[in-house]
Amino acid sequence: MGELQEMPTDWNRALAIVAHPDDMEYGAAGAVAAWTGQGRDVRYLMVTRGEAGIDTIPPTECAPLREAEQFDSAAIVGVDTVEFLHYRDGVIRAGVPLRRDLASAIRRHRPELVITLNRREYWMPGTWNSADHRAVGESVLDAVADAGNRWIFPELVGNGLEPWQGVRWVALAGSPEATHAVDTTATMETAIASLAAHRTYISALSDAEPEAYARDFLTGMGAMGGERFGTEFATAFELVSV
Ligand SMILES: [Zn+2]
Repeated sequence: MGELQEMPTDWNRALAIVAHPDDMEYGAAGAVAAWTGQGRDVRYLMVTRGEAGIDTIPPTECAPLREAEQFDSAAIVGVDTVEFLHYRDGVIRAGVPLRRDLASAIRRHRPELVITLNRREYWMPGTWNSADHRAVGESVLDAVADAGNRWIFPELVGNGLEPWQGVRWVALAGSPEATHAVDTTATMETAIASLAAHRTYISALSDAEPEAYARDFLTGMGAMGGERFGTEFATAFELVSV
C-alpha cells in the first residue's frame, strides 16, 4: 500500500456536487463506477449546465446538449439521478445563495458522503484552477454544515426540509492535497466510456477521437494515483471529515 489511504466504505449514499457537466468524468467517475458496482447509491448535482464550455456553440444551444451528454455519461457509471441548478456557467460566486441551494439539495438527498472537485487555487504547482471549481468546492464544504443546522436557513425547514446531519465526509477529487484513494483498475474502461460520452465537448477541444482522448487522459491520471496507492489505477481524493 502506498502513501494514500483507502477511502471509507461504511456508507450507502453519496451526492456529487460539481460546477459543470464533465467535472466528474475527468477522474472521479472511475471511483463512482466502483461504488455503484458495490450497490451504493450515487447521485449527481451540477451547479451549471456548462453552457460556456464550447467556444463554437452559443450558450442557448450548448446547455441542452451538455445536459444530454451528462445524463449519458452518468448512466454509464450507474448514476440515474442527475440534477442541474442552472447557475450561469463561468461566473459562480461562493456565498450565501449558493450555500442555501446546496444545503437544500443535501437535505433532499441525505448523503453520508459528499463529493466535489478541487477547491484550491492550483491543481498542481503552475496550473490555475477555475473560478467555478473554487467557488463550488468552498461552498460545498460550508453547505454541509448549513444542511445540519436548523437556524442558518430556517426557510428550508418551512419548505419541509428538516436538517440533515448525516454527512460524514466531503471528498474533493483532483486536489493537490490528496489523502485517500479508490482502486479504479477494474473500472477504467467504464470511466473512459463515461468521459468519451461528452462527445461534442471533447470534439471541440481535441482532434483526437473522444475514446482515444479519454483513454489517454484517464490512464495517465489513474496511473499517477495508482502509483501513490499501490494499484495499477486509482482516483485520489482529499478527504475532509465532518
Ligand atoms: Zn469544470
